[in-house]
Parts: sequence; structure tokens; C-alpha cells
Amino acid sequence: MAVSYKDLGLVNTKELFKKATEGKYAIPAFNFNNMEQMQAIVQACVETKSPVILQVSGGARKYANQTLLRYMAQGAVEYAKELGYNIPIVLHLDHGDTFELCQSCIEYGFSSVMIDGSHHSYEENVALTRKVVEYAHKYDVSVEGELGVLAGIEDDVVAEHHTYTQPEEVQDFVSKTGVDSLAISIGTSHGANKFKPDQCTRNAEGILIPPPLRFDILEEIEKKIPGFPIVLHGSSSVPQQYVKTINDNGGNLKDSIGIPEEELRRAAKSAVCKINIDSDGRLAMTASIRENFILHPEWFDPRQYLGPAREELKKLYAHKTVNVLGSAGKA
Ligand SMILES: [Zn+2]
Repeated sequence: MAVSYKDLGLVNTKELFKKATEGKYAIPAFNFNNMEQMQAIVQACVETKSPVILQVSGGARKYANQTLLRYMAQGAVEYAKELGYNIPIVLHLDHGDTFELCQSCIEYGFSSVMIDGSHHSYEENVALTRKVVEYAHKYDVSVEGELGVLAGIEDDVVAEHHTYTQPEEVQDFVSKTGVDSLAISIGTSHGANKFKPDQCTRNAEGILIPPPLRFDILEEIEKKIPGFPIVLHGSSSVPQQYVKTINDNGGNLKDSIGIPEEELRRAAKSAVCKINIDSDGRLAMTASIRENFILHPEWFDPRQYLGPAREELKKLYAHKTVNVLGSAGKA
């Protein structure tokens, strides 16, 4: 059942990244796997007139079902129009780990895929990425590659430590593979526990401040491949009010520390033109649901607690496009 993303009304990342690099902002890549998340993303991005990348991991694809996702993405495009503004929407595979998964996603209407060969040797990463690019470009689908490994947990992949991207490798990797964008490792991290408290310092109010991102590495990379679209994964800020609400209402999250929004704001003004945010959405939804379960023990209709959770998510996403990524008004 091969279908082209073009028939679903989706776009690839090419034009979006070009404009984002020139305009010094970043496109949000928000992960989703259910209807409420998709609605919140589309509502927020239509309201703030932001282009958006709807992002699905391999695990989320298994969870939601590939056929449903294809229609949900098509639905997102139509929904945006119905809400009154035709924003550009990309459907992107996050952390594709095999050629076959990327191929299957392209056949099911994805307009962009990531092939993450960063856990392989450099040569194997080049070969795998090249193979995906050759296939994807036949269908005008954009491809994101990765050099360097982020610490943290992403679906089933766990890495203990960062392996920062080596600026000496990027030019060779980009030219040999033909990728359209490159995910790099400069200190962002997957999951809601990006740093251990002992890696952080405390400010006057006792708030934990994580170690800064390695902007020096980013600058080196920009010198090697000027104007080339760079991607940051693991860029949730882990808002402490959500962590508190979760823990005040029966949750037990420990050492939840994210990337300060000022650092992401700074990154968005550089060659970084795609910023991935997943954990913040999970936290917003969970905080809202936990709070409502305690406040309204009599509720049992999922709409009663998923509705406010969707509203909270929408607020979070709108905040990101306006105040963090600078993508608001760019659609
Ligand atoms: Zn990632």
C-alpha cells in the first residue's frame, strides 16, 4: 500500500530548514503517538503559525499502528486547514535503526526519516546512512543522520555517556552520505533525567543548574559545514512545575533535570534548525492527569482528564514555538 507523503498533504524538511537557517530559528519536532497529542500539536502550531515536524519513533509506530499513523498525519493536515491556517507539516521517523524500517515508513507516507547509525562504527554508519539516502531521495523524502551519541534513554536504546560529535568527521560524513540534516551530540540528552545532581551547580535559590551545552563544538561544526542544517535531540527543559505537580500528586520522579530554555534559544539562532522535544510533553500530560485524578476521584470518563491534559500540552507547545524556538509566525 505504498503512498506518497505528497498525496497526504505533507512536506519534506528541505524548504523548512533552508528558511529556518536563514531566519535564525528552529522548527519544533514534537513526538506523538495518540490523538490528543496530535490535536494539541496542531492546535498550538496553527495558533502560533509555526511549521511543525510530527515525529514518531519506531516504538511509537508499533504502539499506534503504521496504518493509523498514516491517516492521523493526513488528518493533521486537514485539521490544520479546518482550524484556519495551512501550516507546513512534516511526518518524520525518529531514530530509525534499520534500512527496512526507513523504507517501510516511506512507503506509509513519511516525508522525512532519521537513520541513526551512531551506535555503529563510523564506516558502517556512513554505509547505512548512504543506503537510506539513496532510497529516500528517489521519493523526495529527506534524511537525517547522526554523528556522536547522546547519553540517556530513547525507547530501547540506553547510552551511559555522551560521545560528543567530532567536528573533524562532519564534512566527510555529510558529503559521503548525502544526508539533508545532521543530528549532533553537544550535551543534550534523552529522557527526563538528563543530568545527575552532582553534575550540576546550585544558583542562589537552590535551583540545580546543569552543565552548559558545548557551544564550542557546535561552532566548530558550523565552520566545517557552513549553513548545513543541524539537529538537536533530547532538548526538553523538564519544567520543574510539572515535576512538582507529579510528585505532589502521588508520582515519584527523581533527579529530573533538563536543558535550560535560554540555551535552546541560543542554539535555535545558530545552524540548529530542528529541536526535538518529547519528555516535556509527557510530563505536561502526566502532571495534568495526576492532578485531576486527585482533585476529582469520581471522574472515570477519559475525556474528563484527557481534555485538560490536551489543553496543558497545547500551552506547552505554543510556549515552545513562541519563546524557545522562535518558529512562531514563520509558517
Ligand atoms: Zn533522539
